[in-house]
Amino acid sequence: MQAEGRREHDTDLENIQKCIRCGSCMPVCPTYAESTRESESPRGRVALVKGLFEGTLEITPNLERLLYICLDCRACQTACPTGVRVGELVVAGRTRIEEEKARRPILRRALRSALFDWALADHSNIELAMVPLRLYQSLGLCKLVRATGMLKPLGKLDLMDRFLPRLPARSLRQEIDEVIPAPGNRRYRVGFFLGCVMNTVFANASRATLSVLGRNGCEIYVPRQARCCGAPLFAEGERERAKNMARKNVDLFAAADLDAIVTDCAACGAELKRYDELFDGDPEYGAKAAAFSARVLDITEFLAGIVEANPPAGSLNRTVTYHEPCHLVHAQGVSKAPRRLLKAIPGLRLVEMKRSNWCCGSAGSYAFTHSDYSMRFLDAKIANATATGAEAIVTGNPGCALQLTYGLEKHNVKMPVLYFTQLLEEAYRANVDGAMASRHRVGAGVGQ
Ligand code: SF4
Ligand code: SF4
Repeated sequence: MQAEGRREHDTDLENIQKCIRCGSCMPVCPTYAESTRESESPRGRVALVKGLFEGTLEITPNLERLLYICLDCRACQTACPTGVRVGELVVAGRTRIEEEKARRPILRRALRSALFDWALADHSNIELAMVPLRLYQSLGLCKLVRATGMLKPLGKLDLMDRFLPRLPARSLRQEIDEVIPAPGNRRYRVGFFLGCVMNTVFANASRATLSVLGRNGCEIYVPRQARCCGAPLFAEGERERAKNMARKNVDLFAAADLDAIVTDCAACGAELKRYDELFDGDPEYGAKAAAFSARVLDITEFLAGIVEANPPAGSLNRTVTYHEPCHLVHAQGVSKAPRRLLKAIPGLRLVEMKRSNWCCGSAGSYAFTHSDYSMRFLDAKIANATATGAEAIVTGNPGCALQLTYGLEKHNVKMPVLYFTQLLEEAYRANVDGAMASRHRVGAGVGQ
């Protein structure tokens, strides 16, 4: 198991000073590709944040719009020759804006507080929030609403409804123990960071992850009290709230003796890997957070070498394409491990799509806050995926999985979206001659 990604960071000021205005970031920026306006390019955003920090630009609705229209996909960071972390500068700009939030309408502040201080503060609160949504689906109201189109006049609410995948009956956390022993000889002791969305929406995918880890000799520690990684808060400029959650996670995992802390959510992994930066110089948490982040691995980083050395006995006669989550390829610099893992599955064929590392338009709540751009990015992604002729799209981030599933339905394309470990689990369960032992649920798509 080996970390593929980068770990480096500067202060916001150093970050700004590194920009030589060369423009290498422009061709890879999705918002610049759409608008061709400098103010919607990475280079333009560096200038905006510089102006904001130096006090030459005031916080206006237009400045706010320009900073929030950035996807925070970080493709510009991969392309930048001097290592400017534009996405992080944009988030720093948003943080500055949020510090002025006394100006916010009271309803917006109340909604943010409900989301950040209540829902994301504890897994059990999110699980509680899922109850009415489950009832909405199990009582057939969802089907009725979609068939009649009654939410259509409400625009965003209709879009949210259409994004909602079939929810599992229970969250994964409710059905597993805090320590899951290795089924045979123990080779590793790993911590598993169960993301909020993976726990409540994509429980089937993370169940497959636990099974695959077990098959590879892992004893797994899944702390029941783990908090949200903090990524949604940080992206919204809520740095202090994000740090409070990070402290709790660092303490929980620090108490266990682990070979690695693994996650199957790319967004969580990107955030967990930067806890060291969040607490840089902090006398109480600096060293603990650095030790924590150094052990974090995406599931593909952890498994690639292990599965290459000891592949599943079963063979999958399947052709898939891979959508690279921004949080994996750009934020973590992990691009080879997912492909190595897919290529290690006997019989599986990987066909690359054009622009596999371009954002699908998910970007947290971007699909709802900036639907126009988001849908254009999604349409391009679906066109590139279907052009490969693959029968499934593999990805490693719940936001991407939701967005791609919605896009495929919108374009009436019958193509499941799968996580890496769902395919692996399928291979472990397949007969050696290539026939499927059972067409079990995990292989049917992320939310099935
Ligand atoms: S952010 Fe990087 S790539 Fe973009 S203009 Fe500045 S130095 Fe060049
Ligand atoms: S993070 Fe993405 S959308 Fe934002 S400036 Fe960089 S490339 Fe453009």
